[in-house]
Amino acid sequence: MNTSRLAPKQFQAVYPRILEWIGRVLVGYESQARAVATTGFPRLPLYFDKDFLASAKFVVVDRVPVPPLASMGLEQFSEFEKNDYGGITYLDTFFLKQDHAADEGLYFHELIHVLQWRILGPERFLAVYADGLERFGHRNSPLEVMAYNAEAAFRRSAQPFNVEALVAEQVKQILTIT
Ligand SMILES: [Zn+2]
Repeated sequence: MNTSRLAPKQFQAVYPRILEWIGRVLVGYESQARAVATTGFPRLPLYFDKDFLASAKFVVVDRVPVPPLASMGLEQFSEFEKNDYGGITYLDTFFLKQDHAADEGLYFHELIHVLQWRILGPERFLAVYADGLERFGHRNSPLEVMAYNAEAAFRRSAQPFNVEALVAEQVKQILTIT
């Protein structure tokens, strides 16, 4: 499946280096990572199952790590790379800036990304994410729109919904239209 339509060859060449960088970052922060289940947030367990919250991890940092995409040859993402994000997710681990560490809604947002990583797998997640970033920018890329919309629903109403089914369905739609 061609999920990165703008530069699939370029993506194929860089993908292993991005994944390697992610692996190094996760190993580097391993001792600081904590399971989301340990936060004691009251609402997350109403939306995600126990095992998922026990396996998903977070790390609180001063600045979230972003891969050096421009130096990997992806100059079109230099803007993305320079931004200072409140949170970012790699595989089953997300990084949060210190001043967001008590924001349950942001954990919810990043957990949506953890589900996206799981459902798509690393290669497809990165391909779809890069493609969306290139075509629509960070805030309007499809995987972010999904996370922001779900986060907004979480903040707006206390009525739980089936997050996993929602993400699975919306990922399927993105793959169909991409
Ligand atoms: Zn996001």
